[in-house]
Amino acid sequence: MIISRQKEFKDILRVLKEQNIFIIGCGKCATRTHVGGEPEVLDMKKRLAAARKNIVGWTVLSSVCSTSWDEVLSFNPGIKKADALLVMSCGGGASVISMLSGIQVYPALDTESLGGVCRDEIMKEQCGMCGECTIWEYGGICPLVQCAKGLLNGPCGGAADGKCEVDDRPCAWDGIYEKLKKMGKLEYLEILHEPKDHSKKQRRKN
Ligand code: SF4
Ligand code: SF4
Repeated sequence: MIISRQKEFKDILRVLKEQNIFIIGCGKCATRTHVGGEPEVLDMKKRLAAARKNIVGWTVLSSVCSTSWDEVLSFNPGIKKADALLVMSCGGGASVISMLSGIQVYPALDTESLGGVCRDEIMKEQCGMCGECTIWEYGGICPLVQCAKGLLNGPCGGAADGKCEVDDRPCAWDGIYEKLKKMGKLEYLEILHEPKDHSKKQRRKN
């Protein structure tokens, strides 16, 4: 699940110069995290109308990052009257809509991290997309993103009462130790981890 947060409304208004706006929400991550589902789209519509924008229509697509423009248009003919699309999804979804539509696209959200939902709790920043996943060596907890220092060989020794010395998060390495202990795999703590191979995280290989 992609975790995003809404941009400040004043920042959206600052860049949104066009008058006729169509709003697109996302039925997946943005709905689940309450930043771009139907209630948020309707709230945005209300606020933009109050700011004297002409809202030519709105929709919540089942999944903005995986859609076809023909399908979007067939259900939302009003989109043709739009000078700009305000997309309430992650950056991936906004980019897809921009590519498909050829219309000016503005993202209403800022994409923060790759997270998940565990027992109904939204968990931010679970993966840094390094392209070389080795979380089994850490009891399933990724130190790259969950340790404040991103230590692959931890802990740093600064934690107090299970809290990180950098901020108030629980120490990731404390969690790794407890998890490995529970699984009977404390020997994994002996592994000396080489730095990540950053070539595996190359952007835009195609
Ligand atoms: S090791 Fe890499 S791919 Fe695996 S969870 Fe961490 S950042 Fe993501
Ligand atoms: S206290 Fe724990 S989470 Fe914080 S930087 Fe040190 S090892 Fe990482």
